[in-house]
Amino acid sequence: MSNFFEEQVLDVHHWTDRLFSFSTTRDPGCRFKSGQFVMLGLPGEGRPLMRAYSIASPHYADVLDFFSIKVPNGPLTSKLQQIRPGDRIVIGRKATGTLVIDNLKPGATLYLLATGTGLAPFMSTIRDPETFERFEKVVLVHGVRTVAELAYREKIERELPQDEFLGEMIAQQLIYYPTVTREEFRNQGRITHLITSGKLFSDIGLPALDPVRDRVMMCGSPALLADMTPILEGMGFVEGNTGEPGDYVIEKAFAEK
Ligand SMILES: Cc1cc2nc3c(=O)[nH]c(=O)nc-3n(C[C@H](O)[C@H](O)[C@H](O)COP(=O)(O)OP(=O)(O)OC[C@H]3O[C@@H](n4cnc5c(N)ncnc54)[C@H](O)[C@@H]3O)c2cc1C
Repeated sequence: MSNFFEEQVLDVHHWTDRLFSFSTTRDPGCRFKSGQFVMLGLPGEGRPLMRAYSIASPHYADVLDFFSIKVPNGPLTSKLQQIRPGDRIVIGRKATGTLVIDNLKPGATLYLLATGTGLAPFMSTIRDPETFERFEKVVLVHGVRTVAELAYREKIERELPQDEFLGEMIAQQLIYYPTVTREEFRNQGRITHLITSGKLFSDIGLPALDPVRDRVMMCGSPALLADMTPILEGMGFVEGNTGEPGDYVIEKAFAEK
């Protein structure tokens, strides 16, 4: 048995010259938990070059969604950004990752903090009904540089609240808080500052972070994680892991080379 599933690209959407997303077919043997990532690459001669990619669709979906950066001269993404419907993609058989709700202790409010393509795993989490069964409120914070980089905004704000199965949960329990750092927008500034200043909480009408009640998942740049981790630890949040649920879990949206 090969280590890979070979899937077909169904749809490609370019958000900006730095970001695109695509969906593929899903082999019935491809199993994952909402929030996990897989290795992904392009087929060709020899061993394909594979990179880690969060699956942006929920565990029950028929298709696999991915949300990708375009790195100039990036070994994978300089080619991956040219895919079209009908092209083939290879996907590793084993999904893994820490951003699964089983790795968190029970709580009342779940904060999903993402920058850039770090939104990808949370597009899976917010489309999984179990998230809304476990938590009363789910706050999705997405930090980007420009308004155009707020990928999936239309889907989160307009489509999901109308969804036949998820609509009611999303409308009542999900708070979406997009924030932009380099342009005028209704919410502005870095996630770290929005949390330490208390602005996020006054804007959404919830009390400041508290490990007794709140749980946090974070996926973003190495800098965001390095800044946010001591802030959470300082408040008394304890990191969770597979087999050892905690108050927060983190994953890098990409590795700095
Ligand atoms: C656990 C995990 C999950 C990941 N999930 C995703 C995902 O869902 N979507 C995605 O686009 N990438 C994701 N990545 C990053 C991905 O694996 C690749 O790095 C990315 O596709 C670029 O590949 P490349 O070969 O073109 O360039 P690489 O040689 O891999 O990267 C070159 C440089 O580009 C920058 N870079 C890489 N990825 C990003 C990014 N996503 N955002 C901003 N800058 C970046 C970094 O500075 C990196 O050093 C993930 C990485 C990890 C570790």
